[in-house]
Amino acid sequence: MDDTPLPAVKAHLQRHERELQALHWIVQAANFTMPVDDIMELIYTQIERTLNAPNFYIALTTPDRDALTYAFYVEDGERLYPDTRWTLNTGLTSQVMATGAVIRTEDYLKECAARGIEPSGKPDRAWLGAPLMASDQTIGVMVACSQKPNVRFSPEDERFFVAVAAFTASAIERRRLQEHLEAHAQQLNTLNEIGRLLASSLDIHEVLDLVVRNAVKLLGAEAGSLLLLDEDSGDLIFRISCGPLGNELVGRKVPAGKGIAGAAFSENRPILITDAQRDQRWYAGVDRSGDFVTRSILAIPLNARGSTIGVLEVINAKDGHPFNQRDADLLLAFGAQAAIAIENARLFTMTDQALQARVEELTTLQHIDRMLNASLDYAEVMALTLEWATRITGATVGMIAALHESEDGTRGLRVLAHRGYPPDVMAPYMEQKLWPLERGLVGFTVRAGQTLLIPDVGADTRYEAVTPDMQAQLTIPIQRENRVIGVIALETADRALFSPQAVDFVSRFAEHAAIAIDNARLFQQVQRANEAKTEFVSFVSHELKQPMTSMKGYTDLLSKGLAGPMTEQQQAFIGIIRSNIQHMDRLVQDLLDVSRIESGRLQLELRPLQPGELVREALQSFEHILAERRQILTVEIEANLPLVTGDRVRLNQVLINLLSNAIKYTPEEGRVTVLANRWSANGNSYVRWQVQDSGIGMTPEELEKLFTKYFRSSHPLVRSVRGTGLGLVITRSIVELHGGQISVTSEAGKGSTFTVLLPIKEVAADA
Ligand code: ADP
Repeated sequence: MDDTPLPAVKAHLQRHERELQALHWIVQAANFTMPVDDIMELIYTQIERTLNAPNFYIALTTPDRDALTYAFYVEDGERLYPDTRWTLNTGLTSQVMATGAVIRTEDYLKECAARGIEPSGKPDRAWLGAPLMASDQTIGVMVACSQKPNVRFSPEDERFFVAVAAFTASAIERRRLQEHLEAHAQQLNTLNEIGRLLASSLDIHEVLDLVVRNAVKLLGAEAGSLLLLDEDSGDLIFRISCGPLGNELVGRKVPAGKGIAGAAFSENRPILITDAQRDQRWYAGVDRSGDFVTRSILAIPLNARGSTIGVLEVINAKDGHPFNQRDADLLLAFGAQAAIAIENARLFTMTDQALQARVEELTTLQHIDRMLNASLDYAEVMALTLEWATRITGATVGMIAALHESEDGTRGLRVLAHRGYPPDVMAPYMEQKLWPLERGLVGFTVRAGQTLLIPDVGADTRYEAVTPDMQAQLTIPIQRENRVIGVIALETADRALFSPQAVDFVSRFAEHAAIAIDNARLFQQVQRANEAKTEFVSFVSHELKQPMTSMKGYTDLLSKGLAGPMTEQQQAFIGIIRSNIQHMDRLVQDLLDVSRIESGRLQLELRPLQPGELVREALQSFEHILAERRQILTVEIEANLPLVTGDRVRLNQVLINLLSNAIKYTPEEGRVTVLANRWSANGNSYVRWQVQDSGIGMTPEELEKLFTKYFRSSHPLVRSVRGTGLGLVITRSIVELHGGQISVTSEAGKGSTFTVLLPIKEVAADA
C-alpha cells in the first residue's frame, strides 16, 4: 500500500479539523455575551494555532469613521497596547478598509509599491489583511503578518482568515450593539435615579450641584457647569462649575447670546462643539488657568414651565471622543428633568421666603391697625410704624413726615418720627420748622407723588444728606384719596439692600400709615376745634355773667319798688325780664360748667356726705312746683345709708337736674318717685339714687343721644319748656368725677328712670 499521500491528507485533515474547531470556538464565543476584548483574545488564540503569524492586529474605525485605531495588537506573540491612530490614506490596512477587499502578499513593501500607496508602520514581509464587515459597513480590518522572510500565507490561510474575519466582525458588532443597549439602559436607569434624587431635594443649591455632578457622570465628561438666567440683567451667571476648573467660574457673567452657553440659551437648542479651540463662539478665558484644555463642549438649554431658565454644559468626554448627537439627546433628556427640579426648588425657596415675609408683613400691619384702633396717640403709632419699616427692610436710618400747611399758607414736611438721624438736626422739623418741599428726594416724592428707589444717592443731585455715608434711599409717598399727605423715607449704607419686595412692603406700610396719619390729623383737628370752642364758651360766659348779675340786681331793685312805685304793667314786664335773665343765667352757668368739664377745670370739694340728706335737701326746692302741677311725689330713703364722699354743691346739682327733668317732662298729675338705697354691683357697694317718673319717656333713638350736648327731644312738652340741653351732660360728668355711674331706662309715653350709683366711702377699720 502506497501511503505517501497519507501524511499530506492527514495534515490537511488535521488542519481542517483545527480550522473547524477554531471557527466553532469563535462562533460559540460570538453567541456568548463576552466583552469585545475577550472575543478578540479568543480569535487571536485560534488564529495563532492555525496560521504561522507572529504579528496580529485588529484595527477598528473611530466613531466618526475617518481614522483607525488598534483594538487588539500582538507583536512577536506578545499583546501590546499601542495608542496609534492613523488616517485612511497610508498602508495596506487603509487599503483593505477603503476597498473592502482582502489583501494577501509575500512582501508588504512591494505590494504597497505595486498599488502606488505609501507604506506605514514597520515594513512587514508576509501580510494578510481581511475587512471586518458588519451589516453593510466595514468596521475595521483584521491583519496577520510577519517580518520574517520565510513566512508565507497560503490561499487556504486566506480562506480561513476571511471566515474568521466574518465571524469576528459580527461578534464585535453584536457585542457593540449589546454594549450600546446596555449603556443606554444604564443611562435610562441613571436618568431615573437622578430624577428621583433631584425630586427629593428642594434645596436650590443642593439641586444645582446634583444636576451638574450627575450630568458630568452621565456623559462621562471631564467638567461641567450650570448657568442660570439673571432676570434683572438678562445675563447668564455661572452658578455651579465642577471639574478641573473647580468653582473658579462661579459668579461669572455671560451676556445672553454670547459664547456657547449664550447661543444654547438664546437659540434654545443644544450646541455641540467638537473642537472648541477652533470655534469662534468659544470663550477661551475659561481655559486660562491651569492645564485644562477645552476640546469638546455640549451645551443644552434648560426649559421649565415654558421658559428657558439657564444652560447646562458638559466639557470633554473622558474617552477623548467628541460629544455626539446621542450625547446631546441624552443630556437633553436629563436637562428636562433637571430644569423642573431646579424650578421646583426655586419656587419652593421663593414661596417659602415670600410666605415668611408675607406672614411677617401681615402680622406687622395687623399690629399697626390694632394699635391705631386702640390709640390715637399718633406720635407713638408713627414711631412704631417706622421702627417696623426700618427693621423689615434693614434700613440704617428712616423717617416719616406729614405734609403740613402753616398759617401763612406755606407747605412743608413735619417730621412725625425718625430713627438713626442726628436728633438735633431733626428736632426743629418735628416742632416749629417745616422741611421745604423743594429739598431732597423726600420733597420730590411728595411733590411728584412717586416712589423713588435711588441705589446710588451720590449720583443723584436731588439727594440731600442729613446723615453721612448713606448709599441708597427709598422714598414712598403716603397717599390718601389720591392726595399725598406724607412720606416714608428709608436710607441704607448698603447699596444692594432695598429689594423690590422691600419697596412693595413699605408701600403697603404707607397705605396703613396713611390711615393713621389721616385719623390722627382729623382727631387733632377736632381736638383743636373743641379746645377753641371751650375757650370761646368760657370767655363768652364770663363776659355775660357780669352784666347779667347787674341786670338781675337792678330788676330786683325795680320790682321791690326801690326806684319808686311801679304800675302793674311795669311789674309784669319786669317779671318777663327776670325770667329771661334767669334762663340766661342757667344757660351761662351750664356753659361755664361744660367748659370747665371739657378743659378739666371742674374742681370738686370733697367731703363725707349723707346721701339721704342730700335727696331731702334737693326735694325742698320742688315742693312748690310739684303742688302746682299736682304731681304725686313718692320718696323712699333707706335708713342708715352709708356716707359718700362728694362735693355737696355738685351732687345737689345732679339731683336738681334729675328731679327738675322728671317734673318738667311728666304731665300734670303724673307721678314722680325718688329712691335712695344701698346697692351692690360687680362686687362693689354703692348708694343708689333713682328718680322715676310716669312722664313722656324717650324713644331708643332719643336715648342714644341723651347724654350729648344740646340734645333736646322734639316732644311738644319738651319744646314747651325752656332748657339748655346741657343738664344731663353736666350731670353725667359730675357723677363720673365722683367715681360713680349714671344710667337710664325709658319708654316713650310711659316714663323714665334715671339711676345714679355713688361709691360708698370706705371707712378704714381703725378709723
Ligand atoms: P334740658 O332739660 O335743659 O333740655 P337736659 O340735658 O337735662 O337738658 O335734658 C336733655 C333732654 O333729655 C331733654 O330736653 C329731654 O328731651 C330729655 N329728658 C331728660 N330727662 C327726661 C325725662 N325725665 N323724661 C323725658 N325726657 C327727658
